[in-house]
Amino acid sequence: MTQRPRYQRILLKLSGEVLMGQGAFGIDSITVARVAGEIAAAREAGHQVCVVVGGGNIFRGLAAAAKGFERSSADYMGMLATVMNALAVQNALEQIGVDTRVMSAIPMPQVCEAYIRRRAIRHMEKGRIVIFAAGTGNPFFTTDTGAALRAAEMNCDALFKGTSVDGVYDADPKKVPDATRYETVTFSRVLSDDLKVMDASAVALCRDNDIPIVVFNIRETGNLASVLAGEGTATVVLNEGNA
Ligand code: UDP
Repeated sequence: MTQRPRYQRILLKLSGEVLMGQGAFGIDSITVARVAGEIAAAREAGHQVCVVVGGGNIFRGLAAAAKGFERSSADYMGMLATVMNALAVQNALEQIGVDTRVMSAIPMPQVCEAYIRRRAIRHMEKGRIVIFAAGTGNPFFTTDTGAALRAAEMNCDALFKGTSVDGVYDADPKKVPDATRYETVTFSRVLSDDLKVMDASAVALCRDNDIPIVVFNIRETGNLASVLAGEGTATVVLNEGNA
């Protein structure tokens, strides 16, 4: 296994799907508590962590648009769903004594802070976990793109994509039994082979800003801290020169 560099400041992307646990919809509090424990352990190990949460466990704009809903309104509903998830993650973190701030791309002052980049950086320097809600604040985008954008803005050393598989494979491991996992893979291969990592605009943004994407299994307890320590199983997506 190749040694992964130590990433000091990371952005963790959690899809809505991760938060629903074994369920088919909504927020599973046991799962959210477990994920909060993973984040707390990473912080304990000395990493600065910020988080972007998805909303697909509650509402997906594209799915509603396919059923005739006007796309922009549907996307705003999707963004509101991410705010609910962000509050759930904040609640779970606070219950284990971790200082947390939710910052929304769509201001809603009664609920959480509005996203202000310099303020977010300050929170992180103080050891707080910053949870970014409402994606980019714009319809026609995804929280994957929001994650890449915030990772660039916050000067993160890497974007950690927590999924239910342990990395990037050359074929879908759930369908092709002998699919092989990449230890590292380039952004251009991910885009040319349409490997399912994040959506293409998010991958392109990470490529252009030279932010490695670390794909790992967040369902395995203790895995975030162990991947951060350079152990455990993961795939790192990076630029040619760094491969
Ligand atoms: N969304 C959006 N703009 C953004 C981020 C999200 O319009 O910048 C909407 C979009 O409708 C999306 C929904 O929010 O379907 C939930 O986000 P996403 O599907 O990315 O969540 P995930 O798949 O990570 O759970």
